[in-house]
Amino acid sequence: MINSAKTIEILKAMADRIEAEKDYLTELDNEIADGDHGVNMAKGFNAVVPKISTMVGKDIGSLLKTTGMTLVSTVGGSAGPLYGTAFMKAGAALRDKMEIDGKDLVVALEAAIGGIQMRGKATVGEKTMLDAICPAYDAIKAAVEAGDDIKTALTKGVDAARDGVEYTKTIKATKGRASYIGDRSIGHQDPGATSSLYLMEAMLEQL
Ligand code: ADP
Ligand code: MG
Repeated sequence: MINSAKTIEILKAMADRIEAEKDYLTELDNEIADGDHGVNMAKGFNAVVPKISTMVGKDIGSLLKTTGMTLVSTVGGSAGPLYGTAFMKAGAALRDKMEIDGKDLVVALEAAIGGIQMRGKATVGEKTMLDAICPAYDAIKAAVEAGDDIKTALTKGVDAARDGVEYTKTIKATKGRASYIGDRSIGHQDPGATSSLYLMEAMLEQL
């Protein structure tokens, strides 16, 4: 189970991880696009921390909704609205919950993916954050259905996301700025898939 206080810790850990990886994420984005992904993500998550710090005792849905709204309003580029929508949809799916289990995590991730796809119209295999998030979702769902607890399920999800990030090196970008360079994007790791992996790893480390 994850409660509201733990959710705040997880979101702060996500912000710390993104800040720590800021230069690397920007370097990855620089290879295939405009080199702002790390800066964008750090700006957004650094704005999230003070907002959620004032929300002690609030339900998990509200925490995620505030996170999403903050990302949408502070982050430029495509990742801000995409991640922002993901967190807002996850928040709506977990409305009024003070505690969540593995099943709730599956529901939240499904809503998040729906939000990303509603905004960005991408599917798996287009070299985006979905290439980390969708395999993680599949692995987590299967694990929860098999009776795993939330930590075991998320461990499997993170492993799948890591494989997904590796997979992005082998494919061509057909969505987002990296699609402008077409075949030359092959061989490079997708920055958004990489940041998604970091967010999931940061969550796992808190469990
Ligand atoms: P921008 O591309 O506007 O500079 P960022 O550099 O912050 O924004 O984010 C780039 C990342 O966003 C990509 O690496 C990719 O993972 C993700 N992305 C781009 N377009 C889409 C999309 N349509 N659907 C899902 N993810 C996308
Ligand atoms: Mg960029």
